[in-house]
Amino acid sequence: MPDVVVVGAGYAGLCAARRLRRAGLEVVVLEASDRVGGRTLTSRLSGGWAVDLGGQWIAPAHTRFTDLARAYDATTFTGHAQGDNLFLSGTSRRRFPGELPPLPPHTTALLAAALRKLDRLAHRTLTTAQAKQLDSITIATWLRRRLPVRQARRLAEVILGAELSVDVASVSMLALVTAIRGANGVKSGVEAETTAALFTHGADGPAQSIAAELGDAIRLNTPVTSIHDTGNAVRVAGIRAGHAIVAVPPPLAGRIHYDPPMPAARDQLTQRMPMGSALKAFAIYDTPFWRADGLSGLALDLDGPMTFDTSRPDGPGVLCTILTGPAAQQPTELDAAERRAAIIQSLVRGYGPHAARPVDWREKNWADDPYCRGGYNAYFPPGVLTSVGSALRTPVGRIHWAGSETATEWAGYIEGAIRSGERAADEVLQAKARFAERTEPD
Ligand SMILES: Cc1cc2nc3c(=O)[nH]c(=O)nc-3n(C[C@H](O)[C@H](O)[C@H](O)COP(=O)(O)OP(=O)(O)OC[C@H]3O[C@@H](n4cnc5c(N)ncnc54)[C@H](O)[C@@H]3O)c2cc1C
Repeated sequence: MPDVVVVGAGYAGLCAARRLRRAGLEVVVLEASDRVGGRTLTSRLSGGWAVDLGGQWIAPAHTRFTDLARAYDATTFTGHAQGDNLFLSGTSRRRFPGELPPLPPHTTALLAAALRKLDRLAHRTLTTAQAKQLDSITIATWLRRRLPVRQARRLAEVILGAELSVDVASVSMLALVTAIRGANGVKSGVEAETTAALFTHGADGPAQSIAAELGDAIRLNTPVTSIHDTGNAVRVAGIRAGHAIVAVPPPLAGRIHYDPPMPAARDQLTQRMPMGSALKAFAIYDTPFWRADGLSGLALDLDGPMTFDTSRPDGPGVLCTILTGPAAQQPTELDAAERRAAIIQSLVRGYGPHAARPVDWREKNWADDPYCRGGYNAYFPPGVLTSVGSALRTPVGRIHWAGSETATEWAGYIEGAIRSGERAADEVLQAKARFAERTEPD
């Protein structure tokens, strides 16, 4: 009988299994889809190039992911950052150098003050009353109070909404403060964004390497529909094991049938944590032609997508467009050709007629994925964290919870997924050690 069954072969599940295997335990990983990597998915292009349809950026502060990349020889490169960025709003198109679009000094000062306030909140130990107050409002409400100037507020809404992949009017302010705390504050979080690198051969490389190491312990095409905890063992998809680690996003964990049923708080939590929406598209060109025009490839559109130059230094030109929240939901009503035409139209607006003729095209709408049902991550609407949030990581009997959403640091990132998997593995190892202590003869 295996010691542990892991449900889900994203980074969280794979890293849990890797740690347990290295501690000498027998592990089985059950993965619903026909591949490992979960919300990282590398699409291979002709000529040996690759683009990442899911998670792609890694920052120096992502220390566990960096260690993993190093351990499996996954090389990275820094994206192109020279040239002007673009700021699109309505019919206006403006170029700007630096990180923030040009704003009147008063507006910039208001934004800076709001960021300082956010940082203070993230570093402060909140009283129960303060936590409840922050959890009773959305990010949008907080921004309305702190940023009375419409232009500054809209910019903050768009940037934060893109970061969280959901409309800021849907997310608890306490969840934002918690996420910033998990990134070690505003400065560290912003630094992670600005120093992030991309994987030369794709962000799912280390995941593939772990899977190769785990060999036939991984069973693909095995969706878990029920978990039975008998008290002495768990039964999952016909396998009996000592413990289960469920390493899938909370809303998908909530779709699994548990016997005995989950405690009320855990079930309420998974009912109340929806997935964000993210659609990612790559237009591939023979060359990064926009650079000749002095453009960096980064565009911020107040009404829709963000675009990035993710070309490898020695490769073809690659423009990565990311639509999140409501902007990701609208194009799903279009068919594939219409959706592609709409995204290309926005690229033409930014980069001129040359952008109309990509030589290749890749896209993925994560809400369509039957085993993710959205992206980047699940989020906390108001009132969830302070009522049932404690059920996020608390094991139930022999069932433990992993997944990026359950991380205390870098939740929502691949880094968080890795750390959560390792934490869940440690929980199982500790539980086994406690049991061994109890059964040891005098
Ligand atoms: C478009 C997009 C862009 C992103 N960009 C970045 C980025 O640049 N940098 C970054 O750090 N993070 C990024 N993220 C977030 C990051 O990818 C995720 O937080 C992380 O990969 C989640 O890993 P996980 O192991 O927790 O979950 P997942 O990767 O979702 O893994 C869960 C696995 O469980 C499987 N599964 C689900 N249900 C079942 C079931 N019932 N039975 C068996 N298996 C099941 C799924 O198929 C999946 O393989 C992005 C995400 C998306 C979608």
